[in-house]
Amino acid sequence: MKIFFAGTGTSHGIPVIGCTCPVCTSEAAEDKRTRSSIFVKGKNGTSIVIDTGPDFRSQALCAKLNKVDAVLYTHSHADHLHGIDDLRIFSHKNLLGETTEKPLHIYSNAPTLNDIQVRFDYIFSPVKEGGGKPHLELIDASIFGTENPLCIGEFEIIPVPLLHGHLEVYGWKISEKDSADKTCSLAYLTDSSFISEQSIELVRGADILVIDALRERPHSTHLSFDESIAYVQKIGAKRSFFTHICHDFSHSQIKAFLASHTGGSLNIEPAYDGLILKS
Ligand SMILES: [Zn+2]
Ligand SMILES: [Zn+2]
Ligand SMILES: [Zn+2]
Repeated sequence: MKIFFAGTGTSHGIPVIGCTCPVCTSEAAEDKRTRSSIFVKGKNGTSIVIDTGPDFRSQALCAKLNKVDAVLYTHSHADHLHGIDDLRIFSHKNLLGETTEKPLHIYSNAPTLNDIQVRFDYIFSPVKEGGGKPHLELIDASIFGTENPLCIGEFEIIPVPLLHGHLEVYGWKISEKDSADKTCSLAYLTDSSFISEQSIELVRGADILVIDALRERPHSTHLSFDESIAYVQKIGAKRSFFTHICHDFSHSQIKAFLASHTGGSLNIEPAYDGLILKS
């Protein structure tokens, strides 16, 4: 599995428009954080996108994304959804030269799918002349679980229910067997402020954990660094990465924070846009 961190920033994106703070004016590439999203490619080429925020188009160009087999949404906040129209190219044809009549499958929980239908109603209305639109099929993922995973190509996928303030959202766990039949798993848990014991159980011991970590200070709908560290400890992934990061700390300041708060023992790193992991 190849994981591309398309975006690792909070809803404003970093730099925040008009902000002159040291992080927003930093020259370091790791301090540019577009809206959070991740692209996952399997050993046989199956391509999954989690969330399409307002930066989706530039992220797809950056990743040279030429095929999407399914999109998983965490929730319907604008910073995770509002690039949905740029799925058009992937639902009409893939850039490997195959055209398809089949709609692109979109998975999430019922409230998120409902918001997509209401907010982007033109996508689901009869075709009018001029102006293309994506060809999408919305699928409620609540029927999938450990005993009955969603199978897409070489991947087995399950939703991981989370609370984001009072909002019920989905994290996602994506697993793939390698050539030696060993399972490799990614747990992608953003946005969140609370993870239940049942959901921790779903992702315990994942190979890679990506977790919401907005900032050091507490927030009502996101995990703070200390709260994220506590969940990382409970989940016990082999490697963990912070995402959905705001402009309070630079990349190097987060690394220093993690070194002083964990002594490096938990194998946590701040993710950054363009980071690629292969497992
Ligand atoms: Zn968000
Ligand atoms: Zn700033
Ligand atoms: Zn959100």
